[in-house]
Amino acid sequence: MQGLMMDYPLTLRTVLDRANRLFPRRKLSTKIGASMHRYTYADFYDRVSKLANALARLGVQPGDRVATLAWNSYRHLELYFGIPCMGAVCHTLNLRLPPDQLIYIINHAEDKAICVDQSLLPLLEKISDHLKTVETIIVMADAPLQTTLTNAISYEELITGEQADFAWPELDERSAAAMCYTSGTTGNPKGVVYSHRSSYLHAVGACMTDSLGLSQNDIVMPVVPMFHVMAWGIPYAATFLGSEQVFPGPHLQPRDLADLIQNERVSLTAGVPTLWLGLFGLLEQERFDMSSLRVMIVGGSAAPRSMIENYQKKLGLRICHAWGMTETSPLGTVGNLKREVLEMPEDQQYAVRAKQGIPAPGIEVRAVDENGAEVAWDGKTMGELQVRGPWVASSYYNDPRSSASFVDGWFRTGDVVSFDEDGYMQIVDRTKDLVKSGGEWISTVELESVIMGHPGVLEAAVIAVPHAKWQERPLALVVARDKVAPPTKEAIYDHLAPHFAKWQLPDEILFVEAIPKTSVGKFDKKVVREQYKDYTLPE
Ligand code: ADP
Repeated sequence: MQGLMMDYPLTLRTVLDRANRLFPRRKLSTKIGASMHRYTYADFYDRVSKLANALARLGVQPGDRVATLAWNSYRHLELYFGIPCMGAVCHTLNLRLPPDQLIYIINHAEDKAICVDQSLLPLLEKISDHLKTVETIIVMADAPLQTTLTNAISYEELITGEQADFAWPELDERSAAAMCYTSGTTGNPKGVVYSHRSSYLHAVGACMTDSLGLSQNDIVMPVVPMFHVMAWGIPYAATFLGSEQVFPGPHLQPRDLADLIQNERVSLTAGVPTLWLGLFGLLEQERFDMSSLRVMIVGGSAAPRSMIENYQKKLGLRICHAWGMTETSPLGTVGNLKREVLEMPEDQQYAVRAKQGIPAPGIEVRAVDENGAEVAWDGKTMGELQVRGPWVASSYYNDPRSSASFVDGWFRTGDVVSFDEDGYMQIVDRTKDLVKSGGEWISTVELESVIMGHPGVLEAAVIAVPHAKWQERPLALVVARDKVAPPTKEAIYDHLAPHFAKWQLPDEILFVEAIPKTSVGKFDKKVVREQYKDYTLPE
């Protein structure tokens, strides 16, 4: 027997319409230089409609890829909706990628047009000769346009004369809405294509109380870039609910973020740990009013326990640790605390909060050993994480590497994890980052997390270096908080000793000026490994 319910298409148009109908006066604010640009969801809707008309006039067809090269801003949000709701595919380009990777991605996706922030135009000017499919460059400029590109037009001029309504097409929910390439820490970028249906369901999933728990009452600030996994889907979730949104533009220094949280009364924000480590340094020294902040969602790489504890104990701010990937839209696991955990002693609660959380409702997980058998959820046994669910990719875009990653309806993440009895997942490492020492594995993530718990340490990255006897041994690179008076090596070893067996300790600790970061602000272990590939460990 069939269910007798409507086959209602799950598309982003519903999300867009709802914000306009129910929350037309709610504000969207963007930091531009020293001032704030503000308008409402009603203004936003008008401009999204004009944009859709303009794209249609330019000849953009259903399924065409229209790229964005932009910071987080109201215009980027317009593109997030205008492009997919008129039937095209919003392809977010990572503005921190090296030119050759940008060229590769744009040509691989066969982008027809690129919408670029004026400040990022020089980037495009440099590579424009290599772009094979791009017909139009749409420049999001606040001032008159100046460029060497002959196919460039101004975004504002483009939309200005258009109608503020659009005959939105009836889209198939399975049609592509957006695409994003992995940032390449694991080799060449691979394209992931989100559908309307997956984006809609991901937004619903993100809004759930026991997930990221957004509300129409929130003032949401996605600090995670809109080119990094659709800013973790937060702009779609926030628009669905009618939450007010704050966009930091390119202003991501600790002081910018503290000012924005304080002045805009931000209640929910999200970003990678390195951002919040930086912000904590400032908040320790200077008073800002952070009382509006309800939760900070942290993911993308492991949030050190010390950071979660410091924010809570010293500032009364809650960090919610989450795990995800470009391939999972990215919501995978979220670190909300079960009642059973809240009944544990404080120390154990923090240990759970430092894990990456339990699977979000809708996401299925398993950790498997090398024979493909599921490992026990005992908090110890490690396995490779595999996931499936309605917002998990089923293949990469035109990429032969798909067959290695998508097997029997599961996505192989390449992350090594353990699950405890309560279902809390801990990322032990990425498969290729683990230190394989004499047949045993050492987790670089755990070492980093504890080293960063030393009060004199700002950042730490641990890598495997080749070793004649043990095959690989860990080397720790440490950035001191105070470079003039760094902690001693011995102090760091003393700090590590209670948490690790002796053979798990790094063979050497080196103090460095900075640790190279990836295009999305993670420690770039690929670059670090390259730098130290010939390093000889002390005897
Ligand atoms: P890239 O692979 O280019 O870094 P992604 O943003 O898709 O791009 O990264 C996903 C990876 O980031 C995961 O496979 C995992 O290794 C890591 N990751 C994400 N969130 C966390 C977290 N909370 N803790 C530890 N690692 C994380």
